[in-house]
Amino acid sequence: MVIAHGEGVWLWDEHGRRYLDMMSAYSSVSHGHAHPRIVAALVAQAQRLSVTSRAFFNNKLPLFLKRLTEVTGLDRALPSNGGAEAVETALKAARKWGYKIKGIPDGQAEVIVCDGNFHGRSITIVGFSSEAQYRDGFGPFAPGFRSIPFGDSRALEAAITPNTAAFLVEPIQGEGGIVVPASGYLAQCARICRERGVLLICDEIQTGMGRTGKFLASQHDDVRPDGVILGKALGGGMLPVSAFVATNDVMQVFHPGDHGSTFGGNPLAAAVGLEALAVLFEEKLIERSAELGDYLLAQLKTVRSPLIRDVRGRGLFIGLEIDTRKTDARTIVRRLLQRGVLSKDTHSTAIRFAPPLVIDREQIDWAVEQVRAVFDELGTGLRKAA
Ligand SMILES: *Cc1c(COP(=O)(O)O)cnc(C)c1O
Repeated sequence: MVIAHGEGVWLWDEHGRRYLDMMSAYSSVSHGHAHPRIVAALVAQAQRLSVTSRAFFNNKLPLFLKRLTEVTGLDRALPSNGGAEAVETALKAARKWGYKIKGIPDGQAEVIVCDGNFHGRSITIVGFSSEAQYRDGFGPFAPGFRSIPFGDSRALEAAITPNTAAFLVEPIQGEGGIVVPASGYLAQCARICRERGVLLICDEIQTGMGRTGKFLASQHDDVRPDGVILGKALGGGMLPVSAFVATNDVMQVFHPGDHGSTFGGNPLAAAVGLEALAVLFEEKLIERSAELGDYLLAQLKTVRSPLIRDVRGRGLFIGLEIDTRKTDARTIVRRLLQRGVLSKDTHSTAIRFAPPLVIDREQIDWAVEQVRAVFDELGTGLRKAA
């Protein structure tokens, strides 16, 4: 299947066959493919001014940065392109804050992360991944990271030392298999971090932008982190646009020349990011994610099969866990594809459903029908039907 065209929740292959996109390029296409307002903003800005570098001010970036601080309730934003770059920005900020503000001895700063994390693919980031494949052949890795179980605030409490600068966490682990921690977990982490003088940095690259039914997933726990990382849907499904947004306390450590990006914050990306935010709020896509996410979750829970171990999620960010003794997630994903539904497995144990937030009930009903049909076909799965 080779994708050639997309519109809204639909994708078409080269032969004109239509598919319902239940994956949205890992939540990058939350607004739907080719959203008319975002296309218009992209084209208009491209005709006017696209790239200036940060050597000069441009008239679009300040509006975008200001909007980012408003929607996150934080003070300052630093723009970049892909998600991993924004995570690197956050890590640099955390370490420098550790040395300059907290007073950690030079070269000793530690950052705590979680087992099963996914924060991108740079050498630093894969260095603290718990996924062997992501690390294999890419070492040596940067020191200064410590991994603890996800969802366990006591483990965080125990892992903090006087040299801990920050705790970097996904409010819901995406690549890890749509792992939703117990309610209150992030609030407890926030309290511990505050008491111990450690920054709480939430990687909301996938969970942000309304994906889980709030603008940020951390808002479910009423938590305001010291820093938030955004990406994916921030680019409106069209461009790589990411940002690290943080408090003044954190961001004050960056001085001109400390950090940078040639394309980060270019006027084209800023115009698209601004429009992506505007559409998200004006078309009430966040409320839609909450409401239709509940609906999709409830509908998926009506699919009865001995192959399903769990269905979980928040908003339109849902994982269906497979009993891998009986079948594997890839088999399901392939059969859904044959029926015109695009989804993606994570680690062959869970299938993720994260459609564009513009999806409607009828489309959800049709998708769930296909899911039900696939599990009906597979039956008990023990014979591994081809
Ligand atoms: C996708 C993702 C990243 C990495 O973003 P890229 O744009 O692929 O570099 C980082 N963190 C999370 C939680 C992600 O889902």
